[in-house]
Amino acid sequence: MDYDILCFKHCNSQSIFCKAIPEKCPICQVELKNLLTEPFVLPHCCTKATNNPASIVLKPSVGTFCNDYTITKDMHIGVVDSQCQLYEYDHRGIIHNNFNDWTDCIVINNLVPESWYFHWDKTLSDIVINPAWSSSNYDSEKFNCYNFIIEFLKLLNYENLKFIDKEHVFNEFFLPKLRYTLKYIYIYRKLKNTCCYVA
Ligand SMILES: [Zn+2]
Repeated sequence: MDYDILCFKHCNSQSIFCKAIPEKCPICQVELKNLLTEPFVLPHCCTKATNNPASIVLKPSVGTFCNDYTITKDMHIGVVDSQCQLYEYDHRGIIHNNFNDWTDCIVINNLVPESWYFHWDKTLSDIVINPAWSSSNYDSEKFNCYNFIIEFLKLLNYENLKFIDKEHVFNEFFLPKLRYTLKYIYIYRKLKNTCCYVA
């Protein structure tokens, strides 16, 4: 993301989004003095995969959320261990610490308590050396990063993290955060062509 999105309210309950605070309110055209809500930076929808111990990370298979993503595009998932080592499964097999491709992703963290970190790491280190996750076994439809995550969570066997299939993982796990991301990137793209966006 090349800029922060600021948000404030002036004369009514509508939120005004901008890259820089304008001199006049885009709704009432009055000079901005007394604001209904002081400007704040909208929390970024995406972040780097680093510095998020014991998390699951999600990004578009191609490109970035802010610039390329639409709801119909495929997603790619990775797992981060408690030491911030990143693993993912794709057509190349298991990939370790490919951080350059994970600078703009959704992070699902605080999934397990710290007392579970050892088990999280052990489960992950066991699964990544399993030859089942080879490049030759990869199938973009039937044996992909979703299977890898589902198998990892199954072996982890943590009560709140059990998923049956790809749809279940997507809807239960990723969709809540993805909804915010979709709103964020909508505003981000509006602000590429205009100084203020009112919603
Ligand atoms: Zn106003």
